[in-house]
This record gives sequence, structure tokens and C-alpha cells, in this order.
Amino acid sequence: MARSILKKESQHIQAFARLRPFNKIELECHAKQCLEISGKDIIVQLPHGSKRFMFDKVFDTNSKQKDVYFTIIAPIIEEVMKGYNCTVFAYGQTGTGKTYTMVGNQTSTSISYTQHSDAGIIPRTLGHLFETLKSNSDMDFTVRVSYLEMYNEIIIDLLSTEEKILKIYEDQKHKGSVQIHGLEEVTVFDKNQVFEILQAGSEKRKTAATLMNTQSSRSHTVFTITLHSRETTPDGEELVKTGKLNLVDLAGSENILKSGAVEKRAREAGNINQSLLTLGRVIKALVEKSPHIPYRESKLTRILQDSLGGKTKTTIIATVSPASNNIEETISTLDYAFRAR
Ligand code: ADP
Ligand code: MG
Repeated sequence: MARSILKKESQHIQAFARLRPFNKIELECHAKQCLEISGKDIIVQLPHGSKRFMFDKVFDTNSKQKDVYFTIIAPIIEEVMKGYNCTVFAYGQTGTGKTYTMVGNQTSTSISYTQHSDAGIIPRTLGHLFETLKSNSDMDFTVRVSYLEMYNEIIIDLLSTEEKILKIYEDQKHKGSVQIHGLEEVTVFDKNQVFEILQAGSEKRKTAATLMNTQSSRSHTVFTITLHSRETTPDGEELVKTGKLNLVDLAGSENILKSGAVEKRAREAGNINQSLLTLGRVIKALVEKSPHIPYRESKLTRILQDSLGGKTKTTIIATVSPASNNIEETISTLDYAFRAR
């Protein structure tokens, strides 16, 4: 098979890959490792050759939550504090570590939860934000969070105690900006609230899955942190900024079907994940600097429209299994993250 070298073309979209460790089943059946890391590349070993994918960085099976946070997220927080909107996606096959990367294992209720070795991006981000902001006494700030789940283009609020389906509408004042009617925004005052918020969200996610008879592997969650800051400059001028960070745990990548014919049939049967498919097309259009970006073709891309493209920073973390039995899904994940086809 021909070796393909794919290159990143856009400054605004970063792609990372993370390999999770072998799981119990893979260890028990002595699965082989089919991936090799070479600098910023992942080389997939195939029976008749290999395929190479280049990333901004690859995290190996031993990588720590802290490493992922400091390499990927810390620089993004700087942008958010300057007033930019940024989005980070976790994309990959079910069971490869999307939720582990975004949320982590919620085993600790202690005060140091946001720094616990298993804590993922969301708790670490909030912990880090409060530390940075509290050490900056010239700045007046508010941190608000929202947490939603989208299944089959239906949006539910993971922070609300009510069971209701949320509707989106175009903001007439700010063209291109989409609002979600009734979405709860919770003001966070310090990092000790973070555990509770995530716990409530994941409980709600479970009950919603039971109520709607759905599998969580088919839904997306969007955790949004909005940061408003007010600062007085040395010459007495007041600077007001609003930045936003969307942390998105996408549906399992196995929910995307490749072939056009299969896709059409699946769509008719309601089985296709419209948002996952459209997101791939939006990213591709952004990378290619296409004049038309198909944001409007799915709800996920509509609600993220003001945080994708333009002056925003978009990041994809592709999570993959190192085992050879998942090789097809792994190649498709690496391909999507890379080229977002
Ligand atoms: P996904 O959300 O992609 O379906 P999960 O995040 O639920 O996958 O991960 C599946 C299992 O693998 C979980 O038990 C999780 O704790 C574990 N896991 C995933 N990635 C890692 C990792 N990098 N290090 C340690 N355990 C991991
Ligand atoms: Mg998950």
C-alpha cells in the first residue's frame, strides 16, 4: 500500500492523537500493537505496508492527564482570557478515552479534585482558571458554565433539574450567532464546585439515556466555559472581554458511515449521526479555506458556529486504541482528525 503523508494546512486547526493503554480484554486475548509513534507521526502497520499520519503531537499509552492538559489546553486558556472563543473536540471510537480525556475518572471528591491524577480537561481547566484569576487582583471576572447533550439533533440540558428539550434560535443582534433557549448557565465561584457540577451532569446524562432509550455512545456533550473579565489598565481605561471555551465529547466515531450509498440508506433509517458528519465537512471547509462553510447543516455546528473558524482556535484530540483488532476504526479516526473528510 502506498505510504501517504498528510500535512496540516491551517494555523487555526490543531490535531492531536492520544493512545489509550491496552484494556483488559485486549490484554487477555494478547492483542498486538499496530501503532508506532515516530516524533509527531503515528505509523499504522498494515499487512502490506504502513500508513503515516502527522499530528501536532501524539500522546502515547503512558501519557498523563496533566501532560495532555499542559500541552494542549494551557495555551488555549491564554486565548480565552484574551477574549477569543475556542473549541476542543475529543473524537474517536467508543471506549478509546474521549470521556476519560475530557472529564476523567470522577473518583475523588476531595478539595484537590481538579488536580487529581485522573482528572481530565474540564476539571483541570476550571481549577487552573480560578488559580490564575485569583492571583490577578486587578481583574474582575465571572466564570459561567453550561453543559448540554445532543442526541439525534435533540438538545437536553445536563445542568437543569427539569426535563425539557431545548430549542435553538438565530440571534438577530449578532449575525451568525446561535442561542439556545433556556439553557442553564451556572456561575462558578471556586474550584470546589466543579466536582458537584460534573457529577450532576453525568447523573443527568445517565437518566436521559434511560428515558430516551438511547446509548450514550451516540450522543455528543458540550461543556462551555464563558469567561467575562473586567480590568482597569494603568491609564484608567476599562477593558471588558468575553472569551469562551467549548469542550466537546463527541459521539463514537463508529457512528459515521463512509460509503455514499450506505450513508443515504442509514440517513433514511435515522441512523446517521448528522452532527458528526457535518462537523467533518465544516472542518474540511475551514482547512481548505472554502468560501462556504456548511455550519447550518447540523445543530452541533450551528451552536458552535461562533467558536469555529475565523479568529478562533479549534483543536481535535483523536483518541485511539493501540490494538490491532481495532485497526480499521483507528485508521478512520486518524484520518478524520487529520483531514476531517
Ligand atoms: P469513550 O468515552 O471514548 O467511550 P472512555 O473515556 O469511557 O471512552 O474510556 C474507556 C475506558 O478506558 C475507561 O474505563 C477509561 O477510564 C479507560 N481509559 C481511557 N483512556 C485512558 C487512558 N489514557 N489512561 C487510562 N485509562 C484510560
Ligand atoms: Mg464516553
